[in-house]
Formats: sequence, structure tokens, C-alpha cells
Amino acid sequence: MDTYRSLSKQEWEKALTQLLNHYHIYAPLAWGENQDYERIDEDSVADIIYNRPKPASPLKTFFLPVKENVINTEKSDKKRIILGIPSCDLSGANILDEIYLDDVFVDPAYKKNRDESILIGSDCHTLQEHCHCTTYGIRPYPEENHDLTLSLVEDTIFMHINSDKGEQLVREIGNITQLSEPTENEIQEILDKRKAVEEELNRRNRDLPNYNATGDLINSSGDEIWKKYSETCVSCGACATICPTCTCFLLLERPGFEKVRHLDACQYPGFEKVAAGEDPLKELYKRFRNRYMCKYVWKPEKFESTACTGCGRCIEACIGNISKNELFMELYNK
Ligand code: SF4
Ligand code: SF4
Ligand code: SF4
Repeated sequence: MDTYRSLSKQEWEKALTQLLNHYHIYAPLAWGENQDYERIDEDSVADIIYNRPKPASPLKTFFLPVKENVINTEKSDKKRIILGIPSCDLSGANILDEIYLDDVFVDPAYKKNRDESILIGSDCHTLQEHCHCTTYGIRPYPEENHDLTLSLVEDTIFMHINSDKGEQLVREIGNITQLSEPTENEIQEILDKRKAVEEELNRRNRDLPNYNATGDLINSSGDEIWKKYSETCVSCGACATICPTCTCFLLLERPGFEKVRHLDACQYPGFEKVAAGEDPLKELYKRFRNRYMCKYVWKPEKFESTACTGCGRCIEACIGNISKNELFMELYNK
């Protein structure tokens, strides 16, 4: 399905405004110096940010909200369009799908959230300091798990159709406004931009070990490095909750027959405490190491998808100023 369509940004915004009648639309808006997904309305359509690296929240928060009554079977009043998703987050959906859409047990709440979403991916035209997706084999433009890809070049929006859902949406946009077929030169410009960003990522992160090598390094490491790097950890759990691929949760019974799934994080004290009071992760450095073992050693033994997409959010969110990549480089250079 190698099909591009284009339209002016002005016409695109007109189309989005009309689509608001049938969809909830979420897209990145400025949030201080950062950006995050917000529900778009007529007033904010013109403020959407295009082709900047990742929003503060990962895509997973749409499929696994921080708190959700999982036996709520009510249908949403409208489908939703999620716009501006970076490639790292789209790839992160692979491991979520492996876990929550497992062959033996499909999680109905996750499936509903996933099925009701139209995913519009975004090429990254710039980089943030800690972006390192290519180290783990993910390119800085969408290649999987999306319905459309969007690129804004000068004042033109280019859409690449990637699924039947995407084709249907483009048809709806085509009923609102005139769409064009981009020229070969215009398509080449998009491809050249992609190549330049990918090369820059490779250059910046050329010394980082790849996913498999990282797992081997972690698996064969002694306690010292974990004690050293966990010295400033305050067990806030931000690194796990903001990670697009961390999936742990608690299930709480609430009055009114509610079953609430609440995101959990292995960095919280007591995460592994059991009924008799034993806690294998009581010591901070062991809890700290657990997240790395889970991502780079245990998950690769069980699942096909990578459990780290190189988005860099855990580094940016860490109150203790801990960089996993510095830790990996130290292990690598030992
Ligand atoms: S890690 Fe890669 S895909 Fe993700 S935001 Fe950065 S450049 Fe884009
Ligand atoms: S471990 Fe860090 S870099 Fe890797 S996916 Fe999670 S937040 Fe992103
Ligand atoms: S974000 Fe940093 S301080 Fe908070 S739990 Fe993770 S490693 Fe520790």
C-alpha cells in the first residue's frame, strides 16, 4: 500500500476541524518547553506540533491508562485519532501486543482501547538529546503499527497510507477537501530528510552497545555498578511509568463492582513484597537492577519484540539524574 496524498496545511486543518464531529483527536501541543498529547478542539487545531521528537507521554497511556476500570464495557461515543506518534512508540506497541493480545488470553480492555484508535505516525525531523532508537534497530520514521504517516514539509502535509483504516480516513478527508498526489521530487525530499535524521542518530550513538550486547553485559555484571548508579535513585518509579514498554499493573477491587487496573512499577519499595513479609527486591540496588534485567535479559528470553525502544524518556524523567546509557557505556568499556 505505497500511496502518498498531500494537501496544504490550511486545508488539512479545515479537514481536522470537520473530523472533530466524528472523532476525538489527540495530538502534540506545546507544554512549556516540551510537548504532550492533548485532546484537540477547534481552537487548538492550528497549534498542533508536527514532526518533533516524542511527546512527553508514551503512546502506551492510550492503551493502558494509569487507572482504568477494566470491566467497563461501555462503548466510547466516538473513535479516536492519535496523531503525531513517533516511530519508537509505535514499535513499543509490539511488546504491549505480545503481552496483552497473547494467543491464550486477550486482555479485553487493552484490545478495546487499541481497536478504537486510528494511529497516525510522524517522521522525526529533529532529535532530542537522548534519542537512540536506531541503536535498537528502530528507524526515526514509522514502519509498523500505524494507519497513516504524516510529514509537514514547508506548508504541505504529506500522508502515507499504511492500512485499510488509514485508507478509509484519507477517503473521509478527500470528501471534505481536494487531495493531490505528490510529485516524485516531493517524495524524494521526505525520503532524504528521513535518511539525514537516521544518519545523525547513528553518528551520535555510534558507541552505544546494541540490544543483545546490552543484555549480555547486564547479565554478566557484578553488584558494584548497580550500587554505584542507584546511589541517587529515590524510587519514584518515573522511569518505568513513563516507559513505552513497561507493562506492570495492580488489579484493585473497588465498591460498585469495579476492577481497577492501576499501573505499577518495579522501582517502588514493596513491589515484590509477599504475604509472609519477604521482599526479594528490598535492597535499592537490586530493585534498580531489576528493571534492566527485565528489559534486556528476561523479556528477550520470552518475547520477540525489543523491550526498549531507545526513546530516552527514562533518562529525561529521572530525578536522580541517572542515565542508563552512561551505565551501559561503563559496562561496555570495562
Ligand atoms: S527515539 Fe527516534 S523515533 Fe523516538 S522520538 Fe527520538 S528520533 Fe524519534
Ligand atoms: S527503557 Fe528508557 S529508553 Fe528504553 S523504552 Fe523505556 S523509557 Fe525509553
Ligand atoms: S526515575 Fe530515577 S530516581 Fe526514579 S525510580 Fe527511576 S532510576 Fe530511580
